[in-house]
Amino acid sequence: MKVLVADAIDQEGIDKLEDVAEVVVDTSITPEELKNTIKEYDGIAIRSRTKMTAEIIEAADKLKIIARAGVGVDNVDLEAATKKGIMVVNAPESTSVTVAEHTMGLMLSVARKISIADKSTKSGQWEKKLFKGIELKGKTLGVIGMGRIGSQVVSRCKAFDMGAIAYDPYLPPEVAKNMGVELTDLDTVLKNADVITIHVPLTPETNHLISTEQFEIMRENCIIINCARGGIIDEDALYVALKENKIGGAALDVYENEPPEESKLMELDNIVCTPHIAASTNEAQKGAAIIIADEIADLFKGKTPNNILNMPRMDNTDFKDSGKYLDLCEKLGGFISQSINGTIKEVSVIYGGEISKLSNKEIFTRTVLQGILNPILSSPVTVVNAPAVAESRGVQVTEGIRNEGKGYESFIKVVGKTESDEFSAEGTVLYEPKILKVNGYWVDVKPEGHMFIARYKDVPGTIGTVGTKLGEANINVGIMQIGRDTIGGNAVMILTVDHEIPENVLKELSELENVHDAVKIVL
Ligand code: NAD
Repeated sequence: MKVLVADAIDQEGIDKLEDVAEVVVDTSITPEELKNTIKEYDGIAIRSRTKMTAEIIEAADKLKIIARAGVGVDNVDLEAATKKGIMVVNAPESTSVTVAEHTMGLMLSVARKISIADKSTKSGQWEKKLFKGIELKGKTLGVIGMGRIGSQVVSRCKAFDMGAIAYDPYLPPEVAKNMGVELTDLDTVLKNADVITIHVPLTPETNHLISTEQFEIMRENCIIINCARGGIIDEDALYVALKENKIGGAALDVYENEPPEESKLMELDNIVCTPHIAASTNEAQKGAAIIIADEIADLFKGKTPNNILNMPRMDNTDFKDSGKYLDLCEKLGGFISQSINGTIKEVSVIYGGEISKLSNKEIFTRTVLQGILNPILSSPVTVVNAPAVAESRGVQVTEGIRNEGKGYESFIKVVGKTESDEFSAEGTVLYEPKILKVNGYWVDVKPEGHMFIARYKDVPGTIGTVGTKLGEANINVGIMQIGRDTIGGNAVMILTVDHEIPENVLKELSELENVHDAVKIVL
């Protein structure tokens, strides 16, 4: 076996790889050289420099594994690797502690004005009175996103005798309780926290999650920290909040543009900035190198690695249109995940018709879970890791069958349940994936692009009012489908729209008379 180490990884990882393979280290290899030589290798170890594009993957005739010594795999074309049957693994746990420790460093630096005091002292000043700080003891930490890093920050803040509250609508309260934190809504965190720390992925939902409106309700002395991804905090709004002393201070490791050239934030004294280094420690890099070396060694020894992010799809099974049914499963999952209110605790996947006769339907159920979990997590959820991720988040999954095909060759129904809500969607493949029922009402929707769903009371005028509001916001409606149980009873409307509905318009729509709830979906 031959492995290429294409980016600098810790020597301990390289030593481990040499026990199982011939190792070539070339950390300055160009994309052109890589494309020409990749056919010689059975495995490749990378960090973020090397881009495993579809073109390079296509040329990789023997490659069995791409191992990313870190978390994000933005530099790997997962789809192309999956199609080619190449396993992609990462080292998701390797940086959590390191990022949590950096968060603590930034928290203390802002609370005790360490970085500006350092600058002043080194310039020959002795400005003791200027740098009076605050104690963390007894203060409330507000965590946004209680995943791997958020939970590590909480346990460290407990050692500082801080209280902790968190906002994470996708985490069951009992799991949060075991992590020592009380879950609440975003506004409660913003209003009550003395220190707010962000640990969510950057998604359409979290983009500018913290903007002017959110800074308005924070405590006057509140400190906000972002070690997650740039774009979650609206930097223009942050500048105003800091400049006008609406909050106490801030610390950023990540920016809307990196590097943040000509950012006005750099003029301010009440912000501490680091250049996206939260994950940069020797320990994290060594840990990542050892993890991926073990993953590669496991595969070469015929064992299953732990952190596989993909798995070849079952397009080649005998089941007709299996690829399109897998697409349908992913879309149904994404549809449920974005439509339902609250944290999903139960998922049932019910198969009808021909598909229900397959002896093993697990790949389809896993793909539904992938569709449900991917929009809310930062590290990719794939058919390989979806069940384990669901279990760790306390989601119960059941599979069922119904023998009749409801007039279709096959259909798949997904039901999601939260503490207070239940939402179902079912569909089939008619040349392409289609959603045919939502919450029991017949519809006919191609699940793709921007969509809008409202549950409402079936009274005259509601549909018109929604249409008018969208028109006023210059949002063009493609298709509108409605379904209802009885005249004057409960109804659902599904619209495809040409572009995303802004938050303020969505809020107005959800507050219309007779509308129970309104959500936007991107598939
Ligand atoms: P994770 O997937 O373990 O946790 C993310 C958590 O966010 C999950 O619990 C999820 O339920 C929650 N979440 C998702 N959408 C949410 C929403 N809209 N509101 C509230 N909660 C939501 O991820 P992680 O490994 O803890 O990473 C957290 C962040 O840190 C990611 O953005 C990651 O890219 C970033 N990160 C940054 C660095 C760095 O160098 N600065 C290094 C590693 C990770």
